[in-house]
Amino acid sequence: MSIQVKDLTYIYMKGTPFEKKALDNVNLQIEDGEIIGIIGHTGSGKSTLVQHFNGLLKPTSGSVFIDGADISIKGSEAIRRRVGLVFQYPEHQLFEESVYKDIAFGLQKRGILKEESHSRVIEALRAVGLGEEILDKSPFELSGGQKRRVAIAGILVLEPSVLVLDEPTAGLDPKGRDEIFSLIKGLHRDKGMTVILVSHSMEDIAENVDRVLVMNSGKIQIDGSARTVFENTEMLESIGLSAPQITYLMKGLKHLMPEINEKVFTVREAKEELKKYLKKSWGDNSK
Ligand code: ADP
Repeated sequence: MSIQVKDLTYIYMKGTPFEKKALDNVNLQIEDGEIIGIIGHTGSGKSTLVQHFNGLLKPTSGSVFIDGADISIKGSEAIRRRVGLVFQYPEHQLFEESVYKDIAFGLQKRGILKEESHSRVIEALRAVGLGEEILDKSPFELSGGQKRRVAIAGILVLEPSVLVLDEPTAGLDPKGRDEIFSLIKGLHRDKGMTVILVSHSMEDIAENVDRVLVMNSGKIQIDGSARTVFENTEMLESIGLSAPQITYLMKGLKHLMPEINEKVFTVREAKEELKKYLKKSWGDNSK
């Protein structure tokens, strides 16, 4: 499903002394099947923007269209429901006595019959890479990474076409982080889902998405490929962000190894670049 945002402005507490313009005339087009990252410092408007994608917030002015349909008009609920939003620390919303009940919660709210509900719970559980033995457990018995996956399953069970994840790996250890990203990339690749990732980790964005939106003071400052964005280190720094750490390391090494290409943004790319350099300088013993 595609998302189009047109002239979107959002003001919190409008008309009070506390009013705050969180989005300022944002325009944006996300195509069906894209995987896209949104970065920006705290308070730049990322969460406010994504909460418009499923109608959780209504524009102060402007519009949001999903597959060409304006989601603010009456009767658009069915289309809004196709956008699944996974909030930060979604496992904080697990409260049922079993994993099964937690995953099935949204289906129950939508009045889906038990038999259908059962097969959808099993499918969602598989999609997040968990086994059925977990279904009768209390969510509180699970590891942090498992809880997060159960919470994501509770959204997937609603069969969204667009998945929006706000800081999906916050608070997880490196293994849990890798697992969540391979899950997300699998959903994008195998199910053709449109995926929107909000993150403050430049490493996660550089490694996992093709296109990046940079937000600053309620506006989209840049909309481009990960390469275009991360090459622009000075601009990122001027708005309180940075390039991935590996890019700074490569810039430092450039002084010692002038021939290397320092414009790499992931550890994998850096490894390849250094191998290439070492092979050239020291022959082929550098594997
Ligand atoms: P981000 O997700 O990039 O951290 P937010 O979208 O949460 O940014 O916030 C954008 C701006 O809106 C910030 O200045 C924030 O303080 C303000 N804001 C966010 N939520 C509320 C709210 N519920 N009431 C008032 N102001 C808010």
